[in-house]
Amino acid sequence: MARRAPLTFLLVSMMLACGLSGCLGDEALDLLPEKKGVPGGLTLACLRSSMYTSMVIEIDHEPGYRPFTSSTDMLVDRLEQVCDKPSGISIKYSEVSFDHEGTWSAQDVRDKGWETKDQSPRDGTTLYWQVLFPAGTYETDSVLGVAVDASTVALFSDSIDEADGPFGRPSVEDVENSVLVHEVGHLLGLVNLVYQSPVDHEDDEHPGHSNNDESVMYWAVESADLSNFIFGELPNEFDADDLADLAGLADGSIAIRDQLWS
Ligand SMILES: [Zn+2]
Repeated sequence: MARRAPLTFLLVSMMLACGLSGCLGDEALDLLPEKKGVPGGLTLACLRSSMYTSMVIEIDHEPGYRPFTSSTDMLVDRLEQVCDKPSGISIKYSEVSFDHEGTWSAQDVRDKGWETKDQSPRDGTTLYWQVLFPAGTYETDSVLGVAVDASTVALFSDSIDEADGPFGRPSVEDVENSVLVHEVGHLLGLVNLVYQSPVDHEDDEHPGHSNNDESVMYWAVESADLSNFIFGELPNEFDADDLADLAGLADGSIAIRDQLWS
């Protein structure tokens, strides 16, 4: 019993400290923060349905920054292709003001994302992933989108608006379609973020990305350097290797790490 005394003392201290302000205040939350995980940390929660049978994509956009319907429709299609969600995958839009000055860092995206989330990413039998559409640009202004933890990505529309090709091919809408699928692809763990693919399809020079320029996970998709795709079609689908990785993770034939739920 003596060995348990310090824990008991700590709990009593915490209760005393809560006092009049209540035990669900910021102090208590800071003591036990929910783990945010790494991109890919909720991959199995999406691919499998044994715990999370439905999924909601929370879109938090600033006024004037609501994404094209074609982007969110395409995202749902791509997720339905790989994630087992018998009770459905839906989109929930919220117009918000992030009140952010200057450019965005990954930490800014994480902080503002978690301030804005309507609930925990794992709530009951529903999995919630979040996409921010803030005003302004990333600190590296050639970056069109980022994935910052297991449930949070951001797309920078001010940069996407300038990333269309000559003569509007690909169009701003095409670019947004692809970048959205690409960033959520990182939440699915692509490529090799939380596993090692049996197939060599990761780009050596751009870790976490596909070496196939016909995959939506090709590195240049999230970069303003879209000259790679001049007059070509911007990829917006997972390729056969991406899909094989996800299938292997779903059925357990490919080992996975860093999961917040498994
Ligand atoms: Zn990427």
